[in-house]
Amino acid sequence: PRDTVDVVVVGSGGAGFSAAVSAHDHGAKVILIEKEPVIGGNAKLAAGGMNAAWTDQQKAKGIKDSVESMYKDTMKGGRDLNEPALVEVLTSHSKGSVDWLTGMGADLNDVGRMGGASANRSHRPTGGAGVGAHVIQVLYDNAVKRDVDMRMNTRGIEILKDDKGNVKGLLVKGMYKGYYWIKADAVILATGGFAKNNDRVAKLDPKLKGFISTNQPGATGDGIDVAANAGAAMTDLQYIQAHPTLSVKGGVMVTEAVRGNGAILVNREGKRFVNEITTRDKASAAILNQTGKSAFLIFDDSVRKSLSKIDKYIGLGVAPSADSLVKLGEMEQIDGKALTETVARYNSLVKSGKDADFGRPNLPRALNEGNYYAIEVTPGVHHTMGGVKIDSKAEIMNAKQQVIPGLYGAGEVTGGVHGANRLGGNAISDIVTFGRMAGENAAEYSKKN
Ligand code: ADP
Repeated sequence: PRDTVDVVVVGSGGAGFSAAVSAHDHGAKVILIEKEPVIGGNAKLAAGGMNAAWTDQQKAKGIKDSVESMYKDTMKGGRDLNEPALVEVLTSHSKGSVDWLTGMGADLNDVGRMGGASANRSHRPTGGAGVGAHVIQVLYDNAVKRDVDMRMNTRGIEILKDDKGNVKGLLVKGMYKGYYWIKADAVILATGGFAKNNDRVAKLDPKLKGFISTNQPGATGDGIDVAANAGAAMTDLQYIQAHPTLSVKGGVMVTEAVRGNGAILVNREGKRFVNEITTRDKASAAILNQTGKSAFLIFDDSVRKSLSKIDKYIGLGVAPSADSLVKLGEMEQIDGKALTETVARYNSLVKSGKDADFGRPNLPRALNEGNYYAIEVTPGVHHTMGGVKIDSKAEIMNAKQQVIPGLYGAGEVTGGVHGANRLGGNAISDIVTFGRMAGENAAEYSKKN
């Protein structure tokens, strides 16, 4: 072997960085590898927030929430197909994960609402900056501070084991160094999902053939093959999530927070057709049922001002605006007269405090201030719920439900946490909590081996 360490982490997303920092802090010598030339994975793109219950940030804002409520929402969102023991870990450690990040310098003080949540529990930086980029920056800075050995352009190829089946290291391929192996007592797979690999996606769910994807190029799922070759069992691979709102004009994902903060969804006929903050699978199906398989997010300047991310969409040219709904309709070929009536009706529902039409649970503000905006959206593949099977210590299991000694998994490469459908805001929570746990357990394991 070229190198000898205690723990190798594969993947530089939120799960990988959390694992690397946590393994280091539990005494392990760590190498983190990333096959792409840049760090951050998909985690860096996450715009919504980090779900957590019973946090100091919520208390400071007078928000009532509980771990039980987050547990119930997560199970319901996952259609009760989630692995309960993993949801227990996700929810009961969520506050601890927020505290862990803030202790390292993160700002998660803004708390908003995401689809499928019965309380405001989506934690994000003040001012609405992207939560993923912020969390990755904080974790990266902390990995640098700890002198973690990070290697870009380095792909994990094969898990190496001794004849008893214990993990002994990882075969990697560096862009310049070529093939070499790293000797280690434990390997943590944090390689993310496979949404960008449409062949893999369409094989598992033919309805999604040809769908665009929000993911970064590295989200191909080769980590799943690495795990399978090491004997890992898979779970829930067929559950693939389409994000309901990808901008048709620019292919960017429009965060759910736009709806959470007050935007409505209308079709080309200018009519609302769904509770805008229903779960992602239901919202996607509803949009695909509309004329042209797309819909429009409609909002005004009060929504724009509430979320700095919206200015980015405007900057990208995907959110045209006009000073009246009729003009906006003309620009975007939406029935402007119907749109005007729809918004007036919606504003009256906001006033009454109850959405009698579609049962939308939050009605943050009327749409009647300044300019109006329209973002045309369509669903794309966003997240893959399934993956390698882990237990509640982030240990990877084989088909006989036995732990593969020394092999750990965290984040989107794993299955079971989100069941059939992941709630917005639960990804960052998942990767930080299970990444930390994998890092800690791998470090402890390596001490005994
Ligand atoms: P998570 O959200 O679970 O942390 P991400 O998608 O953010 O997952 O990060 C996973 C990272 O792992 C991506 O940057 C991806 O390029 C990287 N990756 C995937 N497969 C491999 C591999 N075989 N070797 C090294 N890095 C990998």
